[in-house]
Amino acid sequence: MTLLAQLLSQFKPATLEANLDLLPEDVRAALPDLKAAFEAVDRIMYCQWSEDLPDLMADRASGYSLEAKALRHFNGPYNVLDANKSFIEGVPDPLPGKNVYPENLTEAEFDAWIDAHPADRAAFVSPCTVIERRLNSEPGSMLVAIPYAEKYRDELNEVAAHLKAAADKLEEGALKTFLENRAEALCSDYDAQAESDAEWVRLHDAPLEVVIGPFEVYSDALKGLKAFYEAMLLQVDHQAGDALKSIENALPILAEQIPYPAHSRPAMGGMAPMIVVDELLAAGEGRSGILASAFNLPNDAGVRGAVGWKQVMIRNVMQAKFDNCTRPIAARVLSAEDLAASSFDAYFFHVLLHEVTHGLGPAYREDGRSINEACGRWHTALEEAKADIGSLVLLCQFQGQFGIPALSLQTIGASFFAGLYRSIRFGLHEAHGRANAIQYNFLKEQGAICKTEGGHLHVVPEKIPEAAKALLDRICTLQACGTDAELQAFSETYGTASEDLIAQIDNLSDLPIDILPTFPLD
Ligand SMILES: [Zn+2]
Repeated sequence: MTLLAQLLSQFKPATLEANLDLLPEDVRAALPDLKAAFEAVDRIMYCQWSEDLPDLMADRASGYSLEAKALRHFNGPYNVLDANKSFIEGVPDPLPGKNVYPENLTEAEFDAWIDAHPADRAAFVSPCTVIERRLNSEPGSMLVAIPYAEKYRDELNEVAAHLKAAADKLEEGALKTFLENRAEALCSDYDAQAESDAEWVRLHDAPLEVVIGPFEVYSDALKGLKAFYEAMLLQVDHQAGDALKSIENALPILAEQIPYPAHSRPAMGGMAPMIVVDELLAAGEGRSGILASAFNLPNDAGVRGAVGWKQVMIRNVMQAKFDNCTRPIAARVLSAEDLAASSFDAYFFHVLLHEVTHGLGPAYREDGRSINEACGRWHTALEEAKADIGSLVLLCQFQGQFGIPALSLQTIGASFFAGLYRSIRFGLHEAHGRANAIQYNFLKEQGAICKTEGGHLHVVPEKIPEAAKALLDRICTLQACGTDAELQAFSETYGTASEDLIAQIDNLSDLPIDILPTFPLD
């Protein structure tokens, strides 16, 4: 197999489902304009990665060759599964600072410039400026921060024109106003954009969610400051949203299942509204190889504090990943009985209650320190394990209530382990992987899973609720009052994969890692 064929074989082609007929006619009429806006977002993201990328994508990403397919799938020549290394011969790996910093800028020089020019700080650390070097000054060179609205003016004007054209097709309403305001905001300064983000958080009851702008900073490997452009077009399922409202309303009852040992206290505030959507189209960083199953935005601390944020569950992406990636894993790992019992519904509600559980449980210790601070380097893995296992406890306890479908313990347990194996593949050494190892080892020790004669995993349904509660209790106690030695002992005892588990994961290496999606609007 050629390198490109090998690369693509890790992704299972999948069609994302959605029912466009449910959209009002005016909204359907606006879809082509939104699609055109998304294409312009792609071009901005290419500029952010490398000067040469817009031309490369224009020349080589269309057609049916493997190269064109791979370029479209990763939305560029860089492999997210391999530290963003280039997979096209002759195309160099990207720079840490991509194309949003000068080529030869070091972190030390960036920091030194800010120290020497305090007035420049705000513009330099802004998520929405490009740093450039100007050579025409004394002595040596000087650094300047150029706002995105100026740097990408032509492309942003294009995005705005398409968004306005889409708004023109819509009848009066909050979505129309949002698109008009968003078009303006993308072409103006950071504050205008934050204001527009706040408007998006407040936007309810619209048939579509249009997420468009620079949001995440993961691709800035130099300083982790600069946001990269992305776009997602999402069809809202208001009926599913109503089921989530019942869960939100039941939050005080759910919270009683999570222990608060040693006078620890929960976080203030409560929970962001959750919505269920189907993804119709994505662009920019929104479609770079691995699609998100869920997200919450915006990231701006000011907007989050004042208005909040939206938690978005992307159902058709979750479904496609479940059918094409999780199921084949389950087929290999689980016993036939457990495989038959596993279901997408159980998986979906486990992911949903995982997000809910993050907002519950100890957040502060009796001495006032946050759990995060008190647990230090052990925190992330413990917190992820808490969310996973807390969700399992809630699912066992409340299936059939508050909009959660009725599910048998066997279905809950089998779906839980199918999901666990999929996620553990992404690496045992990072937080989610360690969190998964903790759960696997603990539940196994409690007898909640066993091996069949054929070496398959079998869930012992009646043991799942007790074992999950015991682990939740253990984790919350560690978070609430564990000493560093206790945290370390627990994390090392349970957070390490046994040889048996490693062998099981190695045995999955030929199965697809993720999907190669066709979007409803592609
Ligand atoms: Zn989580």
